[in-house]
Amino acid sequence: MAYCRFRMSAGHGMIQRMERSATCPRCAGALGPHTHAAGIDLERCCDCGGLFCTSETFQALLTTDGTESLDALPRTKGGTDHTDSVDCPQCAKKMVMYRYPPQPHIHIDRCVECLGVFLDAGELTDMKRYTLLDWFRDLPYR
Ligand SMILES: [Zn+2]
Ligand SMILES: [Zn+2]
Repeated sequence: MAYCRFRMSAGHGMIQRMERSATCPRCAGALGPHTHAAGIDLERCCDCGGLFCTSETFQALLTTDGTESLDALPRTKGGTDHTDSVDCPQCAKKMVMYRYPPQPHIHIDRCVECLGVFLDAGELTDMKRYTLLDWFRDLPYR
C-alpha cells in the first residue's frame, strides 16, 4: 500500500497545491484577510500594502468614506509604480491592466476569470482624491 502511494506521488512531480494561494502578486509577500472599519472584507499584503478584492468590494471601497485609511496601514516595503501586469492571487491567471479613466496614471489590475481587482498601495487614496495635480499630470505629452 505504502509503495503504491509513493509511486503515485512520484508520477505527479508537479502536484498543484489545493489550498488557496495567498501570495501577493506584486511582491510575493503574504496576502492576508483584512476587514476595514466600515465592514468591508478584502485581502491585504502587509509587505507592500497591495489590496486584492472582488469587483463589488472595489466599488464599495470607492464609494465608502474613509477607506483611504487602508493605504495608511503599516507596510514594510515602499510603494511600487508598476507598468507590468500581475497574476491573479486567486486563479493565477494574468490580470488585465486598465487605466482608471479619470486618472490615467493609475493602473488597475483586474482578473477576467474571477473579476478580482488588485490595487497597489496608494492607488485607492489617489483615486478618491482627484486633484488639479492629477488633471495636470494626465495631460497628453507633446
Ligand atoms: Zn505585496
Ligand atoms: Zn482571478
